[in-house]
Amino acid sequence: MSAETTNNELLRGGQFLVKEINCEDLFTPEDFSEEQKMMKDSVKEFVDREIWPKKARFEQKDYALTEELMRKAGELGFLGVAVPEEYEGLGMGFVSTMLVCDYISGATGSFSTAFGAHTGIGTMPITLYGTEEQKKKYIPKLATGEWFGSYCLTEPSAGSDANSGKTKAVLSDDGKYYSITGQKMWISNAGFCNLMIVFARIEDDKNITSFIVEYDSENPNGITMGEEEHKLGIRSSSTRQVFYNETKVPVENMLSERGNGFKIAMNALNIGRIKLAAGCLDAQRRVITESIKYANERVQFNTPIAKFGAIRLKFAEMATKCWVGETASYRAAKNIEDRIALRKENGKDTEQEAELKGVEEYAIECSILKVAVSEHTQDCTDEGIQIFGGMGFSEDTPMESAWRDARIARIYEGTNEINRMLSIGMLIKKAMKGHVDVLTPASAVAKELTGIPSLEKPDYSVLFAEEKIIIKNLKKLFLMVSGTALQKYGEEIEHHQQLMLAASDILIQIYLAESAILRAEKLAKKEGEEKVKEQIAMAKLNLFNAIDVIETAGKHSIISFTEGDEQRMMLMGLKRYTKYVNMPNIIELRNIIANKITEENKYCF
Ligand SMILES: Cc1cc2nc3c(=O)[nH]c(=O)nc-3n(C[C@H](O)[C@H](O)[C@H](O)COP(=O)(O)OP(=O)(O)OC[C@H]3O[C@@H](n4cnc5c(N)ncnc54)[C@H](O)[C@@H]3O)c2cc1C
Repeated sequence: MSAETTNNELLRGGQFLVKEINCEDLFTPEDFSEEQKMMKDSVKEFVDREIWPKKARFEQKDYALTEELMRKAGELGFLGVAVPEEYEGLGMGFVSTMLVCDYISGATGSFSTAFGAHTGIGTMPITLYGTEEQKKKYIPKLATGEWFGSYCLTEPSAGSDANSGKTKAVLSDDGKYYSITGQKMWISNAGFCNLMIVFARIEDDKNITSFIVEYDSENPNGITMGEEEHKLGIRSSSTRQVFYNETKVPVENMLSERGNGFKIAMNALNIGRIKLAAGCLDAQRRVITESIKYANERVQFNTPIAKFGAIRLKFAEMATKCWVGETASYRAAKNIEDRIALRKENGKDTEQEAELKGVEEYAIECSILKVAVSEHTQDCTDEGIQIFGGMGFSEDTPMESAWRDARIARIYEGTNEINRMLSIGMLIKKAMKGHVDVLTPASAVAKELTGIPSLEKPDYSVLFAEEKIIIKNLKKLFLMVSGTALQKYGEEIEHHQQLMLAASDILIQIYLAESAILRAEKLAKKEGEEKVKEQIAMAKLNLFNAIDVIETAGKHSIISFTEGDEQRMMLMGLKRYTKYVNMPNIIELRNIIANKITEENKYCF
């Protein structure tokens, strides 16, 4: 495979696998505009002043506090970042929207869930699919926090299989309204919402339809609520069942067309997924900062525990995952923003279509990020507890609630299993459509494997010379394994879930590892290698860890679906494509990272 290096060309979703970009073309948090930096500071200030000091109340199921602070967030404009100005929003771009999701989520998962459910899946379906009348009527109220939104898709028998819901919508004899009857469950913000995006089936339609349903507790229109669910985490995020008994909804409140609900649901979730990834970032930064402050003060064996190698290893790995997840999240966010702008410039799409198609283009990356960053935050909070020792297990420190709050991110917005399979399923679809040509490079890899390996030696003294070759090789490895599996099973591959999961693990690691190397390279070019040695160390450490994951996933796949000569050939390919010429000293890398965090007494990248 000769991976093409693009010059300033905007890659399509999934093309990162077969094309390369220059580090200068990677958007990173260092590129935030002044406006974005100001937004970040004001969100952080809000969280530090209003949310963090009240953390204990969030753990005591203080739903009213969540509602009160959501209203304040509305007054400050944070609920309307993604909403166009004509509907009383701030009309900021996708990167800014991500930035607000990121920094508003640092103190408690309760607030970030309420925020995400309202601004994302509760509001965006109307912004993206609503008629002008619907948008004028509802969006200003939602953008300012006068009203709150919820998203009612899941049912007792329809979870991951979201299109199988039993909720019915029946048209009245006079054709003026639909009557909705059914049961929804796990509805975030149900306890204080004024508007619901409800998915229901009309007659025996194949696909569900989406409706905007107003809710007024004084005049409930057949809507009743279950009690608040007793949950492991996000305890002050309202989560209830919602029952509809012949709830009357005017026909003009249908969102988009009949049967379009599943599409709306999936597109809303695509956007929700990448924002969820962002919403798992500041929680990690805060956990790292709280842990390092504790570890610098906690003395055992006459030594602050932050000085122990066992603890330093944890800090290095926690910080690395956080930084890498952040890098990949903002990379994809900027791609989405640019794609939307490009579609608008072309003039073919309406604003709504441009937004929708812009995000849809990067649905693979959205799934990758949802999975990776939700798992990073789980690992980070788990290590946070470990660093605090017994105190980590106590409700008196913020670690146990952070750990409990983190757990939900692997379940909602599509479970991580579903998202892993989606990422590969979507890639296959893109390949079939010719949007991402994986077949040509896959057969080039097959030829390369039977040929003599190149004896060309790069100049290893150049920063990341070796790592860049490895990234290229990991892409070849993905193409070798998935290309062979696809040839063998064709469309039946979808039924080989364990292979799909392994392929997805490889894909995720490649996207994150490449993003991190490019960010560190870009930083080094700007600041000099010495000044950013910690970021360089994180990019190298991450790649080293990624190779471990990829080797295991690759081996499990190869030995499960090949045999004989083919298996021997592919195992040889696995070895060749995961090979280092110069192994990094990973203890040294970890120490470089841990030293910096310990000195700064906070997460500082
Ligand atoms: C706190 C909380 C808040 C939520 N908020 C909302 C909300 O606001 N609105 C809303 O509509 N929903 C909401 N949900 C629902 C959430 O999106 C679902 O719980 C989630 O989609 C999973 O569905 P399920 O719980 O029915 O699990 P299931 O679909 O029953 O899945 C159970 C397990 O089986 C696996 N599985 C399922 N199908 C497959 C398959 N085809 N292949 C392989 N593995 C599979 C899953 O990955 C999972 O591990 C919320 C849930 C929670 C817990």
